[in-house]
Amino acid sequence: MAFGYHGRYLRIDVSRGSAEYQPLEDQVLRRFLGGSGLGVWLLLHECAAQVDPLAPEAPIVFAFSPLVGSPLTTSAKFAVVSKSPLTFRINDSLASSGFAIAGKRCGCDAIVIVGRAPGLSLVIVDQKNVEAAPEEPKVRLEPALEYQGATCRETEAAVRSRLGADYRIASIGPAGENLVRYATISHDGRHAGRGGSGAVLGAKNIKAIALRGDRSTEWAQPLELTQISKSLSKRSFGPATAKYRELGTASNLLAFNRFGALPTRNFQSGTFEEAANLSAEQLTATRSKTRESCVACTIGCEHIYANGASSVRIEYESLFALGSLCGVGDAGTVLRASQRCDELGIDTISAGGTIAFAMECAERGWLDEPWLKFGSGTALLRAIDLIGSRQGIGDLLAEGSRRAAGVIGNNSIAIAPQVKGLEIPGYEPRALQTMALGFAVGARGADHNRSGAYEVDFSDKVDRRHVTRGAVRHAIDTEDKAALMDSLILCKFLRGVFEDFYAEAAEMLRSVTGWDVTDSELHDTARRIVSAKRQFNLLTGWTPEEDTLPERFLNTPLPNDPAASLSRERLADLVAEYHRQRGW
Ligand code: SF4
Repeated sequence: MAFGYHGRYLRIDVSRGSAEYQPLEDQVLRRFLGGSGLGVWLLLHECAAQVDPLAPEAPIVFAFSPLVGSPLTTSAKFAVVSKSPLTFRINDSLASSGFAIAGKRCGCDAIVIVGRAPGLSLVIVDQKNVEAAPEEPKVRLEPALEYQGATCRETEAAVRSRLGADYRIASIGPAGENLVRYATISHDGRHAGRGGSGAVLGAKNIKAIALRGDRSTEWAQPLELTQISKSLSKRSFGPATAKYRELGTASNLLAFNRFGALPTRNFQSGTFEEAANLSAEQLTATRSKTRESCVACTIGCEHIYANGASSVRIEYESLFALGSLCGVGDAGTVLRASQRCDELGIDTISAGGTIAFAMECAERGWLDEPWLKFGSGTALLRAIDLIGSRQGIGDLLAEGSRRAAGVIGNNSIAIAPQVKGLEIPGYEPRALQTMALGFAVGARGADHNRSGAYEVDFSDKVDRRHVTRGAVRHAIDTEDKAALMDSLILCKFLRGVFEDFYAEAAEMLRSVTGWDVTDSELHDTARRIVSAKRQFNLLTGWTPEEDTLPERFLNTPLPNDPAASLSRERLADLVAEYHRQRGW
C-alpha cells in the first residue's frame, strides 16, 4: 500500500448498527487520489446514481486525502460527496477542519454512511487506544433526541462536552433535520455548504458524527515533504494570497460592482446602489474585526466582524446572496442573516437565491406573499427562519428555486437563478461569459468552486462580454485544476502561489506516497475525475439540455450594461465546443 494512505474505508450502516472496513486498492487511490475524486469513485462503487438521495440506502461519503495530516499548508480538508437532494446530480462539498485530521486518524481514507437510524442519533467512531483489535472498527450509535432543533454550534458543543474534548464533530442544524434541500453539514464553524449534504444526513436521522483516533500514516520521503511544506508556507505569505489575508473574499463586492457583475435583485441588475455599505472596506472601517484560519492553514482568510454582541464570519458569496441579490444594503442585517443561516445549517447562496427569486415572484404578483419585498431586511430574516423550520412559505422555499418555480408556475422557471437546480453564485453570467459556460456545464450545477472560469474573464485572454470558442479550453483548464485541488486536497486560495501547479502537485504526491507520479499523469487524473462526475450524472439521467442557463440570461441583455448579452445560440455553441473538447 502507498504511503499516506490507510488503504481502506469505513462503511457504516446506521439501519443495522454495523460497521466494517473495506479495502481500497492502490490502483483506485492512484487514479482518484482522495477528496472529490475518491468520493465519486465510492459513489459509483456503491451504485448510488439511481437512488433517491434522501432514501435510507443512499450513501454519503466523507473522503479524506493523502495530504491530510501532512505539514502542507491548507491540507486539513475533506470532501462530503453524495447525490444531491437539490439537483439529483453529483454533489461534492469541500470543507476544512480538524474533522479531516480526526477522520484520517480513525485509520481510514473515507467514511461511507448508509441506512437510516431508528431515531435521531449520534454516530461515534472511537479509534483511540484500540490496539487489541485493530481490524475491528469501534463505531457506535447513541440517541441524540436531546439535540433535536439545536443549532450546529450548540450541537457541537454539547457533543464535545458529552464525549470529550479530543473528539472532532460534524453536525447538522434544524434545517438538516427538516430536510431543507440545501442544508449544510457544519464542523468547527465551517460548512460543507452546497447541494444539501445536511439533508442527506438528516434523512439518515444522524444529528452528528463524532470522531477520534490515533492512527497515523507514514510519509514516503519525509525530508523532501518538510522542504516542500516550508517552501509552500513561505509563499503562502506572499502577494498571491494578500487579497485573502487583507480584506478576504468580501473584497470582491466593490470590484464586481465596478465591473457591473454584482448580481442584484435576483439578477435584474449587475450593480447595487448600496454596495459600498456591504463592502469589505466599509465593514473593516466600521466594525472591529479579527482574522482566523482553518486548521493547518498559514493564509488565514476568515474575516470576522462584530455585529452587536456577536462575531460573524462572512465571505463574499454570503454578502452578495443575502445582500445585493435580495436588495438588502444594511450590513448589520446581512451579517445577522448569514449568522442565522450558519446556526440553522443552510447554504447561504441557495438561501439568498431562493429568497430573491421569491421576492421577484411576489413583486410580479405570482406569489401571494406581499411582505417578501426586495430591500426588506425583516423579510429576509423572516424567510430564513421559515425555511429552516419549513413553516408557511418556508416549506416551498426549502425546496430551492427550481422546485419552487414548478409550483409557482407563470413560467417563473425563466427567472429562477439556478443551473441543474443549484442556485447561481455571485458572478453575473452575462458580464462574465466564460463563467457562464462554467456554470452551464458544471456537474453539480452553477458552481464557482468547481470552475474557476471567472479568472479567464478577468484576464486578457477573452472579451468577457463576448466570449467565443477560444475561451473553452481555458474554462476546461480551470475545471481540471479544481478537480485535482479538490482531490489532493488543497485550498484553492493557494492556487496563485504555484508557478506550475501540476509539477508541484506531482512533487508533493511523490514525497507523500512514494509513487513515481508525474505532472502529465496528474493532468490525466484531473480529467478522469471530471469524467467520473459526468459518468455519475449520466447514470442519474442527465441530458445535454441541462447544460444551459435560465432564460433570463439568454433573452435579456444586462440592463446596466446592454453590451453584456449572451444569446441562447452562442451559449449552446460554447457548450457544444466544450463537449467536443472533452471528447464527450
Ligand atoms: S485560505 Fe481560508 S479557506 Fe483556505 S484553508 Fe486557509 S482559512 Fe481556510
